Amino acid sequence: MLTALSKEQSVGVVGAGAMGGGIAQVALTAGHPVVLMDLDPAACARAVEAIGQRLQRGVDKGRMTAAARDAAWARLTTEAGLEELAECRLIVEAAAEDLEVKRAIFKTLAAACPAETILASNTSSISINAIAAGQQGPGRIAGMHFFNPAPVMQLVEIVSGLETDPRVAEVLFATAAAWGKAPVAAQSTPGFIVNRVARPFYAEALNLLNEQATDAATIDAVVTEAGGFPLGPLALMDLIGHDVNYAVTCSVHAAYYGDPRFRPSLIQKALIDAGRLGRKSGRGFYDYREGVAKPPAATEPGRAAPRSVVLAGPVSTDLPGPAATLLGLIEAAGIGVSREESTSDEACLRLPAGCELRLTSGATATAEAARRGCPVVLFDLALDYATAGRVALAASDGCPAAARDQAVGLFQALGKAVSLIDDAPGLIVMRTVAMLANEAADALHQGIAAAAAIDLAMTRGVNYPRGPLAWADALGTERLLATLRQLEACFGDGRYRPSLRLQRIAARGCAFHKGTTR
Ligand code: NAD
Repeated sequence: MLTALSKEQSVGVVGAGAMGGGIAQVALTAGHPVVLMDLDPAACARAVEAIGQRLQRGVDKGRMTAAARDAAWARLTTEAGLEELAECRLIVEAAAEDLEVKRAIFKTLAAACPAETILASNTSSISINAIAAGQQGPGRIAGMHFFNPAPVMQLVEIVSGLETDPRVAEVLFATAAAWGKAPVAAQSTPGFIVNRVARPFYAEALNLLNEQATDAATIDAVVTEAGGFPLGPLALMDLIGHDVNYAVTCSVHAAYYGDPRFRPSLIQKALIDAGRLGRKSGRGFYDYREGVAKPPAATEPGRAAPRSVVLAGPVSTDLPGPAATLLGLIEAAGIGVSREESTSDEACLRLPAGCELRLTSGATATAEAARRGCPVVLFDLALDYATAGRVALAASDGCPAAARDQAVGLFQALGKAVSLIDDAPGLIVMRTVAMLANEAADALHQGIAAAAAIDLAMTRGVNYPRGPLAWADALGTERLLATLRQLEACFGDGRYRPSLRLQRIAARGCAFHKGTTR
């Protein structure tokens, strides 16, 4: 393992915009002399002022001493030309997201700097191979992808192209770690890890809206209150800006030659066409104008809970996967649970009004009802049923209102808000998590990153409550595979095709992370 840059070695940053200023601050506070350069002197001046203000805030909040602030401040210089960065041991480029701009910068730097200078790009979407092609010493060129805001976000993707010297990637990895970041190693492929694996988080919400499964506020409430994600996908797209989010989706979709897994959404395109770009334009899925209240999530009125339920299924089985914890919650709520052996492949709860309550398997409730020969209410996945504030349910066509109300009342008795949605395959959280895990499995299968790196990237880069592969393990890889197969059958769409890696792991009855027990 190679070591990090020593603190005496200078770090250059090209481009003093939102990212360059943040990256300069990270290197400064880690103890390096930093040289910041921008074509636009006003951008440099703004970045220096902003760094000064943020360092001062660090002192005010007790995160750094005044002496450390002064020392960091004294280590910061600015330059007007790229050649002036020749003394730096590492140069991080954070200029415009344009291949030709980046290639020109790297060409000048490669000519001006000694062979051992490491040249890194903060690009979020441009191929490191394309940046490095034909440059002097392409082995020293790699990606060092920080997230916004760089001083706050922990994740750094260390991206290797075909020519990147593994020792260069190791030094960048060790340096990012020494800077207090969480580095992950990735190969240069479209979207790297995060911007690829995160696509279904947005896409499934957009698809659910397109299918009129429910409204935006309900999707976001279910994803946050049941799924445990910090922000709902539609609110997050409003925050990112639909123009920016859609452009990333289109670029990943085009880069993977139109793979339906990355297909952009007409709903999002319509918002952009209408100028509803999200918070920055005052409207997106939600209306941010002064005095406009946020719409509430669809929430069922209070219903009576059943006095007792029957756990029906093969002898000595529990409710499947993560739903197993529900039984204890039901008993703790004073609802009796009796057990009954049945020939059903998987355990379910029988409600007195004559319907089965089942964890979604990816099929619709109506298809499950036809298979089981009785009305079915499906419930959605929750990160943790004990702490979830809300659960989504869907009833089969023709399910008697009394049976549906008992299902609602049961979850309400456990303290959950209930959103009854249309009979959407895989409901909301399960469908989202299944697709995130499938994308993560495919990234693993294609050797883009290791399983631990993928999970770390998604928990630290976009604050998911659990890594997608760890979630697959918790759910059971066989169950995840079966869910995707059901979704694929329902939609007849290649976007739901299960990754070969998931198929192999599930066939062996294994987990993605060694040591996971279920
Ligand atoms: P920005 O527009 O805020 O800043 C870019 C800066 O680069 C500007 O100040 C511009 O004057 C300067 N610049 C342009 N061409 C230059 C050149 N030839 N030489 C020197 N300086 C030049 O952009 P940003 O948001 O900071 O993004 C910078 C890079 O980081 C892009 O590659 C972007 O994709 C990537 N990135 C952005 C984010 C984000 O959320 N903004 C996150 C991760 C990565």
